[in-house]
Amino acid sequence: MKRYLMTPGPVPVPDEVSLAEARPLIGHRGADFSALFTRIEDKLSRLLRSSGKTVIFPSSGTGALESLAVNFTGPDTKVVSVSCGVFGDRFREITALTGAVMVNVDVTPGEAAAPETAAKAVAENPDASVLLLTQNETSTGVFNRIDEIISALPKNRPLVLVDGVSSVGAMPCFPEAWGIDGLAAASQKGLLTPPGLGLVWLSERGWDAVSKRKRSSYYFDLIRQKKDLDKEAPENPYTPPVSLYFALDAALDAVCSEGWFALRARAARSLAAGIEALGFELLVKDEKYRSPGVTAFSHPSGCTSETAKALKALGVEPAGGQGRFKGRLIRMSHYHDVRWPEISLALGSLYAALGERRSGAGDFMKRAFEVWEESR
Ligand SMILES: *Cc1c(COP(=O)(O)O)cnc(C)c1O
Repeated sequence: MKRYLMTPGPVPVPDEVSLAEARPLIGHRGADFSALFTRIEDKLSRLLRSSGKTVIFPSSGTGALESLAVNFTGPDTKVVSVSCGVFGDRFREITALTGAVMVNVDVTPGEAAAPETAAKAVAENPDASVLLLTQNETSTGVFNRIDEIISALPKNRPLVLVDGVSSVGAMPCFPEAWGIDGLAAASQKGLLTPPGLGLVWLSERGWDAVSKRKRSSYYFDLIRQKKDLDKEAPENPYTPPVSLYFALDAALDAVCSEGWFALRARAARSLAAGIEALGFELLVKDEKYRSPGVTAFSHPSGCTSETAKALKALGVEPAGGQGRFKGRLIRMSHYHDVRWPEISLALGSLYAALGERRSGAGDFMKRAFEVWEESR
């Protein structure tokens, strides 16, 4: 049976990406690899609208977060952490392990981090030198407006480190224009590449801050990475996963294509309209903060986990809830090239999976299609 992967990482990758990954290997010390690396860096600069370079680690997103934490923080650092859920909590835990003094601010799960909330916490802790934020909280499907949050901060603000693991590639993330100082991303979500690459981008202010700190990690040392990245023919200090570089190079052509972010948001809106018309409740109530990459929902009758099981039996594979939402949410991802055929497949399968409860379903296909057409 064909399986339709709809988990928020890994996500289905385009055929061109799989084919690129299967290419015969090349050595990682040589002109061919440097040319590939340079091409990837150029495409990432276009995607992030930045002039700076991006360090690429052979790790998942958590490794990229750890690299930010170990390079920016230590026992001498006070850190304000604003968390909207499981992944905000993880960034906080990783940072606390460096010995940093943590000030924790918890946002109600399903809600976005309000600019005032972050601004207040920063104003109350003028000695904090780092602020941790999550752009897209994958456990709830909340899309935080990082640009609005940073704009609300006091002028003399801390360095802002952002978990962009499930946002980069699928939604606008312009670190230089917005004032982000450290950004972590990963290959297997918005970047439409198999798992295995952790990406880290720093602002000039970020590089400056990191260069003044004592090294506390060998493998995740950003300064060591930058030295090789800045060479005329860029390379890696240690062996990179070359096949994943081939894949990322191909995937960046898709995510850098005209209208990609708008298409993701359009799919999210249409799918959400259909899901509501089927009788489900969306976790994120305010449309402005709904993720263009992943939608979380439950059924008021309490049949959410049964529905998820029935969906899997049909061949459609979403993710369940995490943390406090374990067994109480379905999370469906739409990072990949989801258009009307994929939306109708997901909604039609949800209808079938609802079983007895499907009698409460409205005209879900019509509603979803109206929104699909409206937001063209
Ligand atoms: C997936 C995810 C992570 C963790 O990434 P891994 O690649 O599983 O290590 C961190 N933050 C967010 C927001 C994520 O969605």
